[in-house]
Amino acid sequence: MTTAADDPAPSRTSLVRRARKIDRVLAETYPDARCELDFDDPFQLLVVTVLSAQTTDKRVNAVRPVLFGAYPTPAAMAAAPRDDLERIIGPLGFFRAKTESLLKLSAALVERYDGQVPPRLDDLVTLPGVGRKTANVVLGNAFDVPGITVDTHFGRLARRFGWTEETDPVKVEHAIGALFPRRDWTMLSHHLIWHGRRRCHARNPACGACPVARWCPAYGEGPTDPVAAAKLVRTEGRA
Ligand code: SF4
Repeated sequence: MTTAADDPAPSRTSLVRRARKIDRVLAETYPDARCELDFDDPFQLLVVTVLSAQTTDKRVNAVRPVLFGAYPTPAAMAAAPRDDLERIIGPLGFFRAKTESLLKLSAALVERYDGQVPPRLDDLVTLPGVGRKTANVVLGNAFDVPGITVDTHFGRLARRFGWTEETDPVKVEHAIGALFPRRDWTMLSHHLIWHGRRRCHARNPACGACPVARWCPAYGEGPTDPVAAAKLVRTEGRA
């Protein structure tokens, strides 16, 4: 198979063309790609994104109804008894630290933003426990403001695709942002994260069952045999 590895130093134009082709194929492959965390409003998305650190989206989704049933607003959560929050968040691990984060985050929303989640990156990143990754998830999915979410999957795939050699998430964000129209940033993030969770794993990517293999310079990093590769494909994200 002729692959992108046969073109080791692509021009800027061919890099952009190839990157957009990969995104289009991933969009066709994963038509349901979206944020895998459940939420009803920006506050919920902000909180569940903070809670999703070091655990799975599925576990966070399971805790969500109880958490917001008891504490539906920043004001209610800021006034929550610590031990009750710890009990609810317990199944997610790191429950003491996560409870502390939620109490501080909710209090900051009440004190500084009148109990509303601000729809601007510059404001979001001033909130306790909120970095660019979380802020971009909230902007892109709760406010329809395009954002690139550089999580571990996104960074790994961007490097495998040869889109950037950067490892710093902010540099990755800017480098990839320059390859795509702004309007595509949020869905691009979902496509890469879904592909990373289902096929392009950190170890043993399913190269032989990969729809973008012919455009990927890292083709061959995992098994290229179709049968062996098919066994590595997950139909769901993180369990
Ligand atoms: S699975 Fe293999 S071929 Fe596909 S994107 Fe990942 S490294 Fe490239």
